Amino acid sequence: MSTQNGKLLELRQVTQAYGRGERRFIAVDKVTLTLSAGEFVALLGPSGCGKSTLLRIIAGLQAPTSGQVLYRGQPLRGVNPHAAIVFQTFALFPWLTVQENVEVALKARGIPASLRGPRAVDLLDRVGLDGFESAYPRELSGGMRQKVGFARAMAVEPELLCLDEPFSALDVLSAEALRGELLELWTGGSIPTQAILMVTHNIEEAVFMADRIVVMDKGPGRVVSEVKVELPHPRDRKSAVFLATIDRVYATLAGQTEPESVELGSAPGEPGRTRPLPEVSVADLAGLLERLNEMPGNRADIYRLTEDLQVDSSVLLTLIEAAELLGFASVAQGDITLTPLGETFAEASILGRKAIFAARLRRVPLFRWLLTLLKAAQGGRLDREVVHTALELEFPRDMAARQAETAIEWGRYAELLAYDDADEVFYIEPAAA
Ligand code: ADP
Ligand code: MG
Repeated sequence: MSTQNGKLLELRQVTQAYGRGERRFIAVDKVTLTLSAGEFVALLGPSGCGKSTLLRIIAGLQAPTSGQVLYRGQPLRGVNPHAAIVFQTFALFPWLTVQENVEVALKARGIPASLRGPRAVDLLDRVGLDGFESAYPRELSGGMRQKVGFARAMAVEPELLCLDEPFSALDVLSAEALRGELLELWTGGSIPTQAILMVTHNIEEAVFMADRIVVMDKGPGRVVSEVKVELPHPRDRKSAVFLATIDRVYATLAGQTEPESVELGSAPGEPGRTRPLPEVSVADLAGLLERLNEMPGNRADIYRLTEDLQVDSSVLLTLIEAAELLGFASVAQGDITLTPLGETFAEASILGRKAIFAARLRRVPLFRWLLTLLKAAQGGRLDREVVHTALELEFPRDMAARQAETAIEWGRYAELLAYDDADEVFYIEPAAA
């Protein structure tokens, strides 16, 4: 990683229109963006906001309708020789071996034939593909193919490495491994790359990897804000700062696209109605979010979902209520749609999920109230009896008991509170205190 701080790339009022006549529309509207040497920037936004369009413009694969693109202060003309793009699914030549696929890129750079072999082997070694040089792409897993894609992009020794949702087509484990490897290459300084621009629609991924997150929205595609991530690598997904950053990015996204329409209710003792926790298990909630994440547009007709998930409609409605309360989904006109946070949750690792869940749960008044009670209690511990009695001021007796159960399950999952079954005592997780 370079510490030098020159401006590499500058977009000034870049606008891209597509289509003609009636069909003409503005896909990207007056985007201004600077990328300096040493920076890892994530471009985050919903599908269709123009992220890929911007990457193609930066790589010089297309010229914008208006606005300026400067590379090292010079207007960009034609393909940017200093940039390389890795796409979501990297197009490898199926008839060439892994090593040959990398050598092609070296040849294109004019590297003499005698040097290509050793250089390709070295690059493959660096992305963790040692021993797979003579394999063919079809023999590799998605994650390994994407690694070949990285090695090929690296063969170009790009000053600017552009990644277009590089992990989104991979299974969870391969994606996680590859994120780690990319970060190692980047922070270890073993590649000549001066800056990385990564497109993603995954908040957690952006916060995990980037130094700066440029948040975009659509209709038309534009930059709505920027969030700096001042956390050293390797980042701890469970740390308070990490969670707070995820929340801040989410708030930015949500704040720009729609007001917080969910009625959170009030906590016991506060004026207004105390909203009970929807009595569902985290596992069932996760199941709903995962299913929605598989659907086109992350959206489903609620009525159809009942059949699809084979659950009772009252159970489904409670699940949906929980998803809305936590900001994972929104409901309109009989359809339920995942929010960007819900999508992030569905795609996150277990730790990432816990982190997101905890950050959201802290905002739910009833839960916040319970945490406050525990913090105020002697040693951060409260007898179940006491919690029940407090809840019974708000809810009927049997419901108060079920509320306590739900709070225990959710709190344990989020690692915010714990419950000692033997002593029947609630206590606060030391890490959450
Ligand atoms: P993202 O990568 O954020 O999903 P894109 O840059 O792919 O967004 O697309 C932004 C918008 O422009 C979308 O509405 C898309 O359909 C449209 N679009 C993208 N490329 C073209 C093209 N070559 N011709 C016409 N419309 C396009
Ligand atoms: Mg795209």
